[in-house]
Amino acid sequence: MQPATIGATASEQAATRTRLWMPERVLFTPAALEEPWGQQILSRVQALNLPIEELPRNRLTGLRGEDERATYDIAKRTLAVVNAPPSAFKLSPIPPSADWQFHLAEGCPAHCQYCYLAGSLQGPPVIRAFANLPQILANLAAYERSATTTFEVSCYTDPLGIEHLTGSLAECIRYFGTREAGHLRWVSKFDGVSELLDLPHNGHTRCRMSVNAAPVSGRFEGGTASVTARLGALRQLALPHTQGGGGYPVGLVIAPIMPVEDWPEHYSRLLDSISEALDFDCDLTFELISHRFTPGSKEVLLNWYPQTKLDLDEEKRSTKRNKFGGIKYVYDSETMAQLRRFFEQEIARRFPQARILYWT
Ligand code: SF4
Repeated sequence: MQPATIGATASEQAATRTRLWMPERVLFTPAALEEPWGQQILSRVQALNLPIEELPRNRLTGLRGEDERATYDIAKRTLAVVNAPPSAFKLSPIPPSADWQFHLAEGCPAHCQYCYLAGSLQGPPVIRAFANLPQILANLAAYERSATTTFEVSCYTDPLGIEHLTGSLAECIRYFGTREAGHLRWVSKFDGVSELLDLPHNGHTRCRMSVNAAPVSGRFEGGTASVTARLGALRQLALPHTQGGGGYPVGLVIAPIMPVEDWPEHYSRLLDSISEALDFDCDLTFELISHRFTPGSKEVLLNWYPQTKLDLDEEKRSTKRNKFGGIKYVYDSETMAQLRRFFEQEIARRFPQARILYWT
């Protein structure tokens, strides 16, 4: 993963340095190359001079290393452009974030040691971008109701993290700009937003940045843009068009919240930086997610990050069961209540106009 630098002078470079992931290999399936959107991705990848391979069949093979960690290393440096399978056309609800989820890609180029994808995606964590995006978008209309219907596009990927390679997030934003009731939501830990600022979004896309306190972000969020850069990007997205911004509704996802040592001080600093970045009136929401893990995600994460200092000790957690009987480990109720109270008070104090959408 290489931070790319755009701009002419040193100070311009410092101001505009954007975290861009450049894969070491880009694979295309034959079916993906038959799609006009696949060809559009091909042109972008060619323009970036990245090594391209055309696969003989529509299956991805040869991505496994000697062990799980080696497989992880290979996969996280690989972009595969494929067609989304037929199952992608049957949407699932995604409470509390949105009414429905859909996917423009699966897999993410970042290296968060608590990654939400661990245990939820099968196979090597290669980044698969979907070449049949126009069909995926055309399928969404059937899920819109007359009232506002929200669609989350960041459940299985960081859509901004691969945007320079695909252009797919911009295409989604343009699509939702034309809908009566459909609203798009996406969240990222990257900062390359300049191509999104002039899109005709019609106020139908809420752009969010996922942020965390310095000890969590610094220790556990490899390969992402810094929190400062993410907040700078969110500011650009939220500023009105008249000030060169995108004029979007925006939001912060503070996740995963962890009661690390001196957490009130660290999270207060984070909230202060947010209020410095968004020092103007804007349509702002907060989503608050405490850290949790499952037996399955713990196993995958320990394979991917054997040296991690992430707290994955079941003994220190409370157990919650979902409706299918699966277990997740969360903080005990007293810790949860303390954290929740802190965030609700501190957000209300600094951002009286903002809405907290949920705490979990
Ligand atoms: S940005 Fe999200 S999806 Fe990507 S590695 Fe981090 S937690 Fe996982």
